[in-house]
Amino acid sequence: MTFATLGLIEPLLRALETLGYQTPTPVQAQAIPAVLAGRDLMAAAQTGTGKTAGFALPLLQLLTMEGPKVAANSARALILCPTRELAEQVHASVAEYAQHLPLTTYAVYGGVSINPQMMKLRKGVDILVATPGRLIDLFRQNALKLDQLQTLVLDEADRMLDLGFSEELANIYRMLPKKRQTLLFSATFSDEIRSLAGQMLNDPLSIEVSPRNVAANTVKQWVVPVDKKRKAELFVHLMRKGRWKQVLVFAKTRNGVDALVDKLQGLGINADGIHGDKPQATRQRALDRFKSSEVQILVATDVAARGLDIEDLPMVVNFDLPIVAEDYIHRIGRTGRAGNTGEAISLVCADEVNMLSAIEMLTRQTLTRKMEPDFEPEHRVPDTDASGQVVKKPKKPKKPKTSGGGGGKRNLGKWVDSGDVAPAEPSIKPVRKVPVFNTGPRKKK
Ligand code: AMP
Repeated sequence: MTFATLGLIEPLLRALETLGYQTPTPVQAQAIPAVLAGRDLMAAAQTGTGKTAGFALPLLQLLTMEGPKVAANSARALILCPTRELAEQVHASVAEYAQHLPLTTYAVYGGVSINPQMMKLRKGVDILVATPGRLIDLFRQNALKLDQLQTLVLDEADRMLDLGFSEELANIYRMLPKKRQTLLFSATFSDEIRSLAGQMLNDPLSIEVSPRNVAANTVKQWVVPVDKKRKAELFVHLMRKGRWKQVLVFAKTRNGVDALVDKLQGLGINADGIHGDKPQATRQRALDRFKSSEVQILVATDVAARGLDIEDLPMVVNFDLPIVAEDYIHRIGRTGRAGNTGEAISLVCADEVNMLSAIEMLTRQTLTRKMEPDFEPEHRVPDTDASGQVVKKPKKPKKPKTSGGGGGKRNLGKWVDSGDVAPAEPSIKPVRKVPVFNTGPRKKK
């Protein structure tokens, strides 16, 4: 199959040729004809599978073929993204695909001045990429009208709910024309997303190119048990031992990011951090420097977990496990993209055993544990498996002391082979913090 056989027009084919896309990915092969046929879509695809092109290419084609000209302060298509970084990235891809088309594209998001965005919208744009909060601000200030909108794309819809955007989505929903095409994309699909889809989509075609909630199989994953207080030391040790060149590291909190960056910089390691407290320009600069390999280690909170496309990123380290198990899939999806292989290492302390268990249950696999010599934890990480059980070992009865002979065996913990994958369906739901659509205040990002 080629992009031409999917019915894409010549200016798009030319752009794809320049980008070196030869064959449509599975999600593209299914999404492109459906979107061109005007269907609503509910698409679940693993991270890095090419879903951006899956919605952007047919969208650009429809706008080129059909459109009346865009009116002042209007948009003909809206792509909603959960984070500023993702909005920038999606916009960059859309602009590349649209390079030979007479269409205008633009991205708006918070954290930067609204005035230039209002100016830019005056003439109207064909495709607007936006984060929900800023979109609503622009709408309320009459800088944007949505009556000409013909297509809405919700990208990373589950993440938008996880970030507490349910109220904003409900508001935006009320601002939209009733007659429109809606495409909902997400790497993972929770029941809440299915209910959101039920409200926003009209007879959607469901596309699922990978099993539900399974991490990309191009990513080699393992866990290193360690005491909490020795995580930074272990990270530096592994980094030096493995001669890691470019690593995206996830920490749980903003303070955690800053503390690790300070520690690494103090050791002369080229590291930078991004999190929600930093101004947008600083975050973008850190990301750009990481992408161009000027910065070796980028430490981030989950704000950076979704959608960031860093070419050939070889490694992701979970310095802390995510609180929401699905974030694990998004985090490790930053590596092993577009057919490349990658590694994802999680440094796990005893406190995090329930999170580990939730991740294993969600991904339906028992993660291999590799004990690092000299870093064996004093606080043992209890055994876990994909059934969601946390196995607390019964205390061994004390052995009577024997004189001399072979004692002093060190507890090196349990090694679990990757062959130990338990196929069991999860019996208990992992702990998730997903707000219900249309209720509750937005959590602070
Ligand atoms: P996405 O999942 O949309 O973030 O895309 C992941 C990466 O795959 C991006 O770097 C895209 O440029 C690349 N990509 C998307 N579709 C194709 C394709 N058909 N052939 C080659 N690379 C692709």
